[in-house]
Amino acid sequence: MAIERTLSMIKPDAVAAGNAGNILQHFEDNGLRIVACKKTQLSLAQAQAFYAVHAERPFYGELVEFMTEGPIFAQVLEGENAVAAHRAVMGATNPAEADEGTIRKLYAESIGRNACHGSDSLENAANEIAFFFSESELIG
Ligand code: GDP
Repeated sequence: MAIERTLSMIKPDAVAAGNAGNILQHFEDNGLRIVACKKTQLSLAQAQAFYAVHAERPFYGELVEFMTEGPIFAQVLEGENAVAAHRAVMGATNPAEADEGTIRKLYAESIGRNACHGSDSLENAANEIAFFFSESELIG
């Protein structure tokens, strides 16, 4: 299996609830190494740009407002098939549909306020990693 890197975010709801540490531990417990990590707060322009692919969706305004309401953690995770492995650890977008033991089952409030983000392809992972981190910040 290929070693991949993916971009992960702990969203404002989970950071505000004090669950960032638990979620980072969850990644490590599931074989995803943290090669970069920062706490930051997205500006409106940054959130709009990050989620530009969803600009035509009815929930876009709500999503951007939510993602700017407080600090987030952004991290780069590395491991075997990391893109898919991370999404499995996160669980379904809607916590009502997420499997037991997944981050969204454990910590998400709703389909919108759902605790975490993970890249959905290797190509998007590369773009999303570059959105937050320079090459020198990735400590293998
Ligand atoms: P993901 O890849 O599992 O994060 O899901 P998507 O790419 O489909 O959606 C991106 C993000 O938009 C989700 O993680 C949610 O935060 C938000 N979102 C998706 N669907 C809805 C919805 O129906 N309502 C609201 N308010 N937010 C949504």
